[in-house]
Amino acid sequence: MIIHTKPNASDTDVNRLAKETESILFHNGEHNVLVTPSKMQSPPDGFSEIIDQSWPMASDIQLGSKSYLNQTREIKLGSVSIGGNTKNTIVIAGPCSVESNSQIKQSAEFMQKLGITALRGGCYKPRTSPYSFQGLGLEGLKLLSKMRAEFGFTIVSEVRDATHVDHVIEHADVIQVGAKSMYDHGILRACAKTQKPILIKRGFGTTLQEFAQAAEFVLSGGNPNVILCERGIRTFETKTRFTLDLCGVAWLKENTNLPIILDPSHALGYRYGISDLSKACVAMGIDGLLVEVHPDPSVAKSDAAQQLRHDQFAKLIKDIKPVATAVGRNMV
Ligand code: PEP
Ligand code: MN
Repeated sequence: MIIHTKPNASDTDVNRLAKETESILFHNGEHNVLVTPSKMQSPPDGFSEIIDQSWPMASDIQLGSKSYLNQTREIKLGSVSIGGNTKNTIVIAGPCSVESNSQIKQSAEFMQKLGITALRGGCYKPRTSPYSFQGLGLEGLKLLSKMRAEFGFTIVSEVRDATHVDHVIEHADVIQVGAKSMYDHGILRACAKTQKPILIKRGFGTTLQEFAQAAEFVLSGGNPNVILCERGIRTFETKTRFTLDLCGVAWLKENTNLPIILDPSHALGYRYGISDLSKACVAMGIDGLLVEVHPDPSVAKSDAAQQLRHDQFAKLIKDIKPVATAVGRNMV
């Protein structure tokens, strides 16, 4: 259950209510917000004087649920907003990893030409082998900051573990929590302490309930700016890298108030179908699309098979525009 207290409620009473209901308590700028375990279905007796409104909940998907906020949250990514009444679909694009000054600069120049406002690039890569390229770390973040200063991009970069989360929060505008890191509560709790948007990717073995609950760690810590990203789950199929769960996206749209971004690149794992999948994603009326693009994928240090060449990405943008228009979305 979520409880908002009245503005004139004393701190002593609010804290007493929080203790009695075993709640997480935070202030959202307007109200004290208490979030109880979801099994509690009505406020305890004796507090009606200080309670403004309360919402019983069906599960621990609480602050992120449509039962609490009946509309998708509006979240600002640099100069553009997604969610709310915007009907905007943002395209976030760039290489899997930041590899060098010249590679990220070529990417930035190309993205600017295409009118892309959000540049992605990982600096702490969650590789499945310790012998693979692990990312440039802080040096990569500094290169991304340079691209922001030079071109004005909104920078999206990922956190791999809690040791460097503060560096990513300092240098990136949108903090990506990767599929392999989304259960790391150290990361999620650190992400709750900033107001920067947090893009949480769904783990490939993560249920929708667990995915939405990961968002609750950030929301209940006081950061309302959480975006969910579906990037493929593991199924019996081995011909594709993962399986993009569009049914899951329909469920998230129906049941959560969080903007949703789709990542066809990591789902399919191969260049050939990214454009078709992107059209399908945009047709679902989603809030954003995340695509990996590299100036020369043949020499990419990570995810080489799935990153698009610049000419392929330019065609993808051209191809998805009419789809966006057909479903009433603005590409930003
Ligand atoms: C990435 O975006 O490059 C990445 C590693 O994504 P995921 O966490 O979805 O595997
Ligand atoms: Mn990648």
